[in-house]
Amino acid sequence: MIKKNIKVIGSGPTGSLLALALALNKYNVTLIEPLSDSELLEKDKGYAVTQCTRKIFKELDLWRSIQKSSFGFTSLSIIDDVLSQSVLVRDNDLTMLNNDQTDIGWVVEHKLLMKLLINKINDNEYINKLNYDTTDDADFDFILACDGKESSTRKKWQIKYFKGLYKQKCISFKAILNGAPPKRAYEIFKSEGPLALLPLSHNIYQIIWFSSESDTNLKLEMTHKKLLEKLKYELPDNIIPEKITSKISSFSLAKAFALPNLKNFKNILVGESAHSFHPVGGQGLNSCIRDVYEISLMINNYENLSKINRKFLSLKYFLNRSLDIISLILFTEFLVTFFSNKIIFLYPLRYLIFFLMKKIPFIRIYIFSVMTDSIKRYTFKKFN
Ligand SMILES: Cc1cc2nc3c(=O)[nH]c(=O)nc-3n(C[C@H](O)[C@H](O)[C@H](O)COP(=O)(O)OP(=O)(O)OC[C@H]3O[C@@H](n4cnc5c(N)ncnc54)[C@H](O)[C@@H]3O)c2cc1C
Repeated sequence: MIKKNIKVIGSGPTGSLLALALALNKYNVTLIEPLSDSELLEKDKGYAVTQCTRKIFKELDLWRSIQKSSFGFTSLSIIDDVLSQSVLVRDNDLTMLNNDQTDIGWVVEHKLLMKLLINKINDNEYINKLNYDTTDDADFDFILACDGKESSTRKKWQIKYFKGLYKQKCISFKAILNGAPPKRAYEIFKSEGPLALLPLSHNIYQIIWFSSESDTNLKLEMTHKKLLEKLKYELPDNIIPEKITSKISSFSLAKAFALPNLKNFKNILVGESAHSFHPVGGQGLNSCIRDVYEISLMINNYENLSKINRKFLSLKYFLNRSLDIISLILFTEFLVTFFSNKIIFLYPLRYLIFFLMKKIPFIRIYIFSVMTDSIKRYTFKKFN
């Protein structure tokens, strides 16, 4: 059988992983990315990696190398700062699905993840990388656009896209924090927005700090010393911030999703070009990786699909992914609107949620299992 030719547009984490997943099955992949390899490394971001993502990386034969570049954490402290309530999720809250694991999650720096993926892509004989798209669309069996939330391909294909901007923005940077319990991540809900501390080593953390646009702009104007003083005031467990070790990036935040492409079933949006949601809970890239897994499986299985499923591949893919995506948009929306405010009549409900999570392990375990294993349970059948 002649192997398919597939064009992947965009070589961020989604496009790079997708190219590698397709090459694993010996498809001829043309990967289009305007940025050079060194420019692709430049973002100063850290990604939280969930158990579901670990299993997908394992299927793609990438987990051993990604794990070496990641930092595992064994507990997650979720704090309602206004009500002074907290709940701790630990390794013994991992379900049967992950009971061979001691780490409940991992954090990987964008730079290290991309370096690893770029090296694998450059060594792969089935992937041809181009900086300019000089190809003819007619030469490809599928065109998969992974060109991020501002996707120009989405506009070119005239795909309907629904988008709402959050009033909140966030800053993200790396800092040395002293005094935190080892291997612990934090999600702290404050009235102005969440604050996430993701451990990158025993005392270096990726800080993701959400607040109103005006407050974010003020923070961006502060000296590092002033910002550290402000951060010190916000940190739990007597943690002391010592030094900022990276540049400070700011991000605007949106909730968005695209409808499937019904005009041409072989042109499909994958990853953040198709959806985005609030980064609280660290689910963004994890959901993109589930997109990669789902679309790669569907393409691998293409010959076995019924005629109608082939004809409406983009719709079938959209339907397969929609429960996960819609639940994440709603879940992250719920977290920010419910826990980041000063609405007093919500306080008893917030208190109750923390009380139940602390006192009834089943509730805590269930919520965490949905966050880490996704709402859709994958069976991880043989990938290639
Ligand atoms: C502050 C913050 C914190 C986050 N934390 C987490 C976290 O902890 N865990 C997590 O899972 N997710 C997290 N996310 C979400 C995560 O960053 C995104 O989900 C992820 O970057 C999406 O990857 P992508 O490859 O789809 O898009 P991008 O990373 O945007 O990549 C798109 C690529 O397409 C290229 N491109 C653009 N236009 C074209 C074109 N015309 N032709 C060819 N190529 C093109 C771009 O150069 C780029 O390389 C966070 C997001 C933010 C903002």
